[in-house]
Amino acid sequence: MSPRRCWRERCWRERETASQDLSIEQPMSSPRQPITPSSCHPVTVSPCHPPILPGQTVGILGGGQLGRMFAIAARRLGYRVHSFDPARDAPAGQVADVEVIAAYDDLDAARRFADAVDVVTFEFENIPAETLAAIAEIKPVHPSAEVLHVCRHRLREKEFLKSQGFPVAAYRAVHSGADLRQAVQELGTPAILKTADFGYDGKGQTRIDRPDAVEDAWRQLGRPAGVVEAFVPFTQEMSVICARAADGAERCFGPVDNVHVRHILDVTTVPAQLPAATAQAALDLARAITESLHVVGLLAVEMFVVGDQILVNELAPRPHNSGHYSIDACVTNQFEQQLRAVCGLPLGDVRLLRPAAMANLLGDLWQSGEPNWPAALAFPDVKLHLYGKAEPRPGRKMGHLTALAETAEQARAVVLAARAALPAPPLKAR
Ligand code: AMP
Repeated sequence: MSPRRCWRERCWRERETASQDLSIEQPMSSPRQPITPSSCHPVTVSPCHPPILPGQTVGILGGGQLGRMFAIAARRLGYRVHSFDPARDAPAGQVADVEVIAAYDDLDAARRFADAVDVVTFEFENIPAETLAAIAEIKPVHPSAEVLHVCRHRLREKEFLKSQGFPVAAYRAVHSGADLRQAVQELGTPAILKTADFGYDGKGQTRIDRPDAVEDAWRQLGRPAGVVEAFVPFTQEMSVICARAADGAERCFGPVDNVHVRHILDVTTVPAQLPAATAQAALDLARAITESLHVVGLLAVEMFVVGDQILVNELAPRPHNSGHYSIDACVTNQFEQQLRAVCGLPLGDVRLLRPAAMANLLGDLWQSGEPNWPAALAFPDVKLHLYGKAEPRPGRKMGHLTALAETAEQARAVVLAARAALPAPPLKAR
């Protein structure tokens, strides 16, 4: 019998469990050196700044689609927006008032950016710590650098979750081919090897199906550190996006059902088809993690459902692809909620107005030419979102469709039909 902490009651008291399932990481009963936000970096509970009000300026680090949709939400509320990204004409830069084009490690540019705004947030994790620190000396940054420090690095994130008693798949840290061989011996196959940093949408991920594939997998990883996880035979993938304000108020989107194809989110359906108890457990788990990290802003929590158990797969301290449906289907969308949280405004109602489904549009759709937009727009309950990216590379997220319907299943059928209508007909048929 191994002791397991009770996250659901937020009391961290030990509870007994008969489970010794090797595919699930057993929480440390007496953590040796837990990596918690307070031990890896002191958590600075943000001082209560006066709210940043409409008419003032928000800065967004990162110019991708999440920044674009954030900027649209902020401008709708009358804020000025400055975006920061190394690329010219980035998706967020196209809708920002000011597009700052500079490398992420250009500290002078980062300081000038901070001088010109009232609060700073970010839309992706790979912002250098020095840049965030330089900005944080000048203006508030939400979520904090400490939250980013934990969530940007798979190993730190897993150690944090494990040390706090949150359920994760069994994993091992690996720094060499020999480490990996040993880890795969312990965890068994299949196993999933992931880079510790710079991984998203399945990038930097390799599945190891046989012990003799270890050497190749390590070479393919091409990084000094990685995390290898037991393969989780999940029945479902889901996510919850929690918004938390500086005063501790919380509102959560979801849980939603997520289906991935080639490790990239393909379709999200909401409400998730889950037993009520599992849905509630997912919400409680996401809330507890958000609280224990002292997030001010959003935290997306991706989870696996394995029978009646939930395992946390990944955290993202920002809006998330699986929350895009909220733009068309919720009273307050995830981007407005991020804005409210980082500006110190009351969080909005996250009620779902209608069941919905979101389907990503990847660059692959452009293979035979510009997609047939009128064909998808002919569906009356379908909304089209495009991110203003010029180059449609395979696997690149170019936009998404959201369908609203009477049930989640119907919404899913409609969004898939609308997406199926998009590919341009082959040249001969045109
Ligand atoms: P990630 O980049 O960690 O979010 O992984 C992308 C996708 O890969 C997940 O949404 C799953 O579909 C799959 N995946 C990742 N880790 C595992 C695992 N340990 N077991 C099974 N599938 C996984």
